[in-house]
Amino acid sequence: MPRQIQSRDSDGAKSFAAELPGGAKHDVLGKSREDLRASMEEIGEPAYRGAQLYHALYAERRFDFASMSNLPAELRERLAQRFCIGMPEVSRRFQSSDGSVRYLLTLAARGEEGSGESPARVEAVFMPSEGRQTICISTQAGCAVECRFCLTAQLGLVRNLTAGEILAQVLLALEENRESLAPRTNVVLMGQGEPLLNYEPVVAALRVMLDPNGMRLGPRHVTLSTSGIVPGIERLGREKVRPRLAISLNASTDEERDAIMPINRKYPLEVLLAACREYPLGPREFLTFEYVLLGGFNDSTEDARRVARLLSGMRAKVNLIPWNPGELPYRPPAAENLEEFRQALFAKGVPAFVRYSRGQDVNAACGQLALSERGSLVPTIATSPSAGPSA
Ligand code: SF4
Repeated sequence: MPRQIQSRDSDGAKSFAAELPGGAKHDVLGKSREDLRASMEEIGEPAYRGAQLYHALYAERRFDFASMSNLPAELRERLAQRFCIGMPEVSRRFQSSDGSVRYLLTLAARGEEGSGESPARVEAVFMPSEGRQTICISTQAGCAVECRFCLTAQLGLVRNLTAGEILAQVLLALEENRESLAPRTNVVLMGQGEPLLNYEPVVAALRVMLDPNGMRLGPRHVTLSTSGIVPGIERLGREKVRPRLAISLNASTDEERDAIMPINRKYPLEVLLAACREYPLGPREFLTFEYVLLGGFNDSTEDARRVARLLSGMRAKVNLIPWNPGELPYRPPAAENLEEFRQALFAKGVPAFVRYSRGQDVNAACGQLALSERGSLVPTIATSPSAGPSA
């Protein structure tokens, strides 16, 4: 069984002493090393205490100031009076027979009432495998992109997540499974939301994840998946430290893609793939194109040949994801179509791999848990007619 961690600082988030209006405390989670150094100086401490706090939070995963043994006891008390560590509450845990654990997390309301920072529910998934664990996290509660095969789309956009709420999902999943952790951790930003439509918080969280003094994840082990937000891809390409990039392709023509991903009308294939060709890649780095195979819709060998043409000359690989039967009006591809599709890509020199969703017995589709529980928490959801797995 996964370890159950206490999700809030020892006194509980609401009992921290107040410096902010309304009795709220500053949340340190999601803050950069520079932010924390500045905060320490503001309260009359040397700046290096901020670096120690940063280390305790992200490298040691201490979610309670009292347990930060690299700080003097008197400072720990002062911190607990002024600041909080805003870990989400685990509303439910679903243990799959394949070893993965899905978490339904409740994020507290943030900011003033009516500011749009309402409470929200998101999902994160911990997936152990030989020598590593992969953690899938959400970057928004709900999503505005309206992919037709996606259940999260049915939630509409509830709200953006903060950098702290994005990081908290990784920290929490690691800590809950501390006793069984493998040496390597992969993080995929493929849960609820379109990461490039919540750009600054996502990049702030990535900087902490990829920082050798922070969470110490390698850039090769963190993947951001996008539905194809071209300005975001271009902007991400200019960042100093970048994650791996995955693009949710799912079609071989504009007509097909328009039908299941309306975002394609704004950024059609030619524009999207031009941005992908410009995206800077390190040595031995590939772009990943995800392709959800919907039986009878986008799974013909002609589709595969067109995909190969679209990707020609690009350092790219394709992950083929057979559709999971579910509530939506699609069907899985026939096994022989799946294999023919993979071989047609392979014959044109495009590496292609079949990926199956983990945790199928515990509501595998992204958005499924939050959707089934939405009436209990989120009264302001804008429903859309669309639905499916994450970007
Ligand atoms: S697939 Fe991803 S981008 Fe598309 S609606 Fe779902 S969460 Fe949003």
